[in-house]
Amino acid sequence: MTRTLAGKCFCGAVHYEVADEFVYAANCHCSNCRRTTGSAFKPFAGIEREKFRLTAGDDRLLVFGEESGHDAHCGHCGSLLYSVVRDGAFVHVAMGTLVDDPSIRPTAHIFVGSKAKWFTVTDDLPQYKGHVT
Ligand SMILES: [Zn+2]
Ligand SMILES: [Zn+2]
Repeated sequence: MTRTLAGKCFCGAVHYEVADEFVYAANCHCSNCRRTTGSAFKPFAGIEREKFRLTAGDDRLLVFGEESGHDAHCGHCGSLLYSVVRDGAFVHVAMGTLVDDPSIRPTAHIFVGSKAKWFTVTDDLPQYKGHVT
């Protein structure tokens, strides 16, 4: 039996469930991730879309983008919960919205080429200018 992780937005209107089977995780420093989270970078974890499901508040969801690639926020508090990527095949869960501790840990910093100048990476994880190569 696979462990299931819970997640939710800031106000609690939107809840989700995801299998603890993330395939990869990284800290993304691209400008989109910085703006959508309001933070220096976004720790995210990727998983096949069918292993992720909303358990509450799907009617409150604010979807920014296309069906095959978008960011999903809570329409009430604005939390970025996840992004649908790779032509709709994968979901990138914004790890800050997880309630439970996943088995995976971010293994790299990506898009360090567009990192905020005011932020310094202080750990030893590998850094990539763009995607992991
Ligand atoms: Zn909310
Ligand atoms: Zn990014």
